[in-house]
Amino acid sequence: MTGPAMSTTANVDPAELDKFSEIAHRWWDPASEFRPLHEINPLRLAWIETMTGGIAGKRVLDVGCGGGILAEAMAVAGAQVTGIDLSEKALGVARLHGLESGVSVDYRLVAAEAYAVERPEAFAVVTCMEMLEHVPDPSSIVAACAKAAAPGATLVFATLNRNPKSYAFAILGAEYVLRLLPRGTHDWTKFLRPAELAGHARRAGLDLVAMNGMTYQPLTRTYRLEPDTSVNYLAAFRKPARDG
Ligand code: SAH
Repeated sequence: MTGPAMSTTANVDPAELDKFSEIAHRWWDPASEFRPLHEINPLRLAWIETMTGGIAGKRVLDVGCGGGILAEAMAVAGAQVTGIDLSEKALGVARLHGLESGVSVDYRLVAAEAYAVERPEAFAVVTCMEMLEHVPDPSSIVAACAKAAAPGATLVFATLNRNPKSYAFAILGAEYVLRLLPRGTHDWTKFLRPAELAGHARRAGLDLVAMNGMTYQPLTRTYRLEPDTSVNYLAAFRKPARDG
């Protein structure tokens, strides 16, 4: 636990950060524990492009950016991207990779809540992927994302649903049978039902635009976007325009 941001918020589980920091050096190895993030990346990028009407030229905030898989892809797509995270190691990897690939992303070690106070209403697009299920109070992250979003902005979240099927697939299947992820990557009790996420968003003043599932096909070892939100899903919200 280091860094100035740590003292400004209690909404962080140090054990969760450690988990990501310990394996951060393998973030860009597509055969590592981060393989699923690499594999879903084109799908989620496409969905973000659709939901936002295109990110090129827009200011984008990526909350819980980790090693920068999505942040870099959005920068390559022409967005002006800021990535924030509380894992110093993950950010170090992200910065180094950006230098190697020549992709410019502004990475900062800062809590979402603190950054929203620093940069309120500054971003046309806010993304927060595979992160809400790792924090003590996801509603506070959603509220911070809403605060950092400009009026009329689009916000896109991705997380895991909580039901018996998601326990079977995301915990037993992914961590024990298929070994797509290390054991203990996820705590099923922290998964968020779509209605819960929508509730947090509504209380933060956001309107729901769309939800979509991201499903894993074990036979072909591929992911695809489809309406089934029972395990992995994406959700898009809009912050109302100032006078509308
Ligand atoms: N969003 C990225 C990384 C997902 S991994 C992607 O989808 O490609 C989850 C990330 O959340 C890790 O980088 C971890 O460090 C970060 N994280 C966990 N708790 C956090 C918190 N309280 N504040 C900011 N980042 C956090």
